[in-house]
Amino acid sequence: MAMPHPSLRVKTVLAALGLLLPLLITCVAGVFLSNSPSAGWLFPALGLLGAGLALCIIALNNWLVLRPLRLLTRHVEQLANRQGAERRITLGGAGEIGHLATAFNTMVTEVEQRNSDLQASEQRYRIVSEFSSDFIYWRRPDGSFEFTSPTCREVTGYDVEDFYQRPQLMEEIVHPDDRHLLDAFEQQAQDGVCPGGELEYRIITQTGAIRWVRRVCRPIHDDNGRYLGRRGSLSDVSANKQLADQVSHLVLHDLLTGLPNRSLFTDRLTLTTAHAVREQGLLAVLFFGLDRFKLINDTMGHEIGDRLLVMTAERLHKLLHSEDTLCRFGGDVFAFLLVGRESKHEAVTMAYRVLASLNDPFALGGQQQALLTGSIGIALCPNDGKNAETLLKNAETAMYEAKRGGKNSFRFYTREMNAQAAEMLTLDTSMPASLANGDFYLHFQPQLAIRDNRLVGMEALLRWRHPELGFIAPDRFIPLAEENGFIIRLGEWVLRSACFQNDAWIRAGLPPLRIAVNISGRQFIEPDFVDQVAAALADSGLPAELLELELTESMLVSDEQQSLQRLRLLKKMGIQLAIDDFGTGYSSLSYLKHFPLDRLKVDKSFVNDILTDPDDAAITEAIIAMAHSLKLQVIAEGVETMEQLAFLEDRGCDEIQGYHLSKPLSEHDLVSFVTARQRAAL
Ligand code: C2E
Ligand code: MG
Ligand code: MG
Repeated sequence: MAMPHPSLRVKTVLAALGLLLPLLITCVAGVFLSNSPSAGWLFPALGLLGAGLALCIIALNNWLVLRPLRLLTRHVEQLANRQGAERRITLGGAGEIGHLATAFNTMVTEVEQRNSDLQASEQRYRIVSEFSSDFIYWRRPDGSFEFTSPTCREVTGYDVEDFYQRPQLMEEIVHPDDRHLLDAFEQQAQDGVCPGGELEYRIITQTGAIRWVRRVCRPIHDDNGRYLGRRGSLSDVSANKQLADQVSHLVLHDLLTGLPNRSLFTDRLTLTTAHAVREQGLLAVLFFGLDRFKLINDTMGHEIGDRLLVMTAERLHKLLHSEDTLCRFGGDVFAFLLVGRESKHEAVTMAYRVLASLNDPFALGGQQQALLTGSIGIALCPNDGKNAETLLKNAETAMYEAKRGGKNSFRFYTREMNAQAAEMLTLDTSMPASLANGDFYLHFQPQLAIRDNRLVGMEALLRWRHPELGFIAPDRFIPLAEENGFIIRLGEWVLRSACFQNDAWIRAGLPPLRIAVNISGRQFIEPDFVDQVAAALADSGLPAELLELELTESMLVSDEQQSLQRLRLLKKMGIQLAIDDFGTGYSSLSYLKHFPLDRLKVDKSFVNDILTDPDDAAITEAIIAMAHSLKLQVIAEGVETMEQLAFLEDRGCDEIQGYHLSKPLSEHDLVSFVTARQRAAL
């Protein structure tokens, strides 16, 4: 039970009483007993009584003062073991002790409140550090750590203690290549105060792994503005960085080949060109386009086309020097940026290496393989351009010039090419109008059977008289029409015109002659090609055996199955089938056995040197012998002299075509030529 405690004032009065009372008693006794005989013993007795009383009063007072203090002391000692309301003390009374108890209880309540606030804050901190994978820290102005979160281990591999013991570890783990970033950051610090901000750099973790981290750092000041250090966090952003790298790689690289794309290439070229112009250095841009790739794509399918592009990219990549860049510029065109090549000669060497890299056939699995060639255009900085745009344009122009010049070769850019390129563009765009306006027409070159010196046929050769540019040779416009696809319409027109013309001649009384029509690869793979031929025959009324189609080796071998199927259908209709320019293409002779062919046309390049070049003579002889063994006829084209004819006759060649017999003739001249020979034969 709590005892009521007197106030301190009461206790003070009691204490005073304890001191004054013996004095008072002694004084009173002294006054009354000064004349008494018993004063001698009574005075000390009273003194003793007073002292006894005083002691009692003092003892009572002490008890009254010290007891609540003792209670308080015991309560404080046991405070840690008490909970809730037990932590409050009740000392009773209203005086100072009561105030003390109230003050004590208030203090306990406040401490409890602060404790619970602290616990809540700790809880919050725990939640943050539990669910945050960031390494959070506080560093004092001298760099030592006031605090590090345990997640430092996850981010850096090092323990909290490692950082406490060796604060400079934080700087030591920065990747040497990125230290300059931190140095620059530190330089911004004013009077050693952290400037605050974000940085991304690499660290080397305790296991030696490289990680990207983002550091966020802020200065800490107290209420008086005194700098207390910096707080910050280190987040592992390796995954983000990797993703960002992947995205930027995707944006700047070609998906199929993995090579830099046009945009990255152009950026690099812009930088390198600016540098080369400044430093008077040299660089070369080399454009490399695969020849007839569209045909391969159309015949073999896009999947194989893609595989071939990937394999080509791999071969080209092996040719690069460390400073060079190779990109897929688009479609079947690759571009090289050759840096610091000392001379034109080095660009030539590279061009030869690029062409040679395609020498080996590309294996496509099983028996299937493909042979590719390419054409190269080269532009040199500074001669052919001092900026990326001009160099690219000129290298491309030179590449198309190489393609037109017969493919599988390279050309350096020349100023004249620009004029030619402009002309090509004019030609390119004016083809449809020319076809509609009758600017295209046919010439016919007679063919002769050597054995009986008899005309057996003629080849229809396309001509174009451009309304502004005049006569354009087929070697210039046919490749263009093949590139832009107009050859499909043009070829069909030639086929129909040739059939109608030949039929008209027969109906006009001329002896029936075979008419040979050149077929382009693009035309041959048209799904309705066989129907087109059938329609041309049916509409014109020309007997099928008087039509010959001239095909090339490359178009047959690119998709042997489909070619075989088409040739069989055509053969079934009774049409004659010849291989043009024989010996210049794939020279894979195995297909000759399978295809239902009638005739091989020995290319005029062999015939041309037949008398001077033993190799050409041997090749021609071999072609004739082989064709005969396969029961095929042989016609030699480009026969210009009597001697060539004699040689061919001697080797058993069946037919000839060439200037020796006649140049290609107009419709009118052919009639005259044929009737003149008819008359001569009579
Ligand atoms: P090609 O089919 O090999 O035609 C033979 C070429 O040799 C023709 O050139 C012809 O004029 C030329 N020629 C004939 N005899 C001689 C000779 O004795 N000496 C020399 N040096 N040349 C001779 P042309 O007419 O310039 O045709 C070139 C090429 O254009 C043709 O070569 C052919 O591949 C293509 N071509 C012509 N007309 C057509 C066509 O209607 N369609 C397609 N797809 N291509 C065609
Ligand atoms: Mg021909
Ligand atoms: Mg030919």
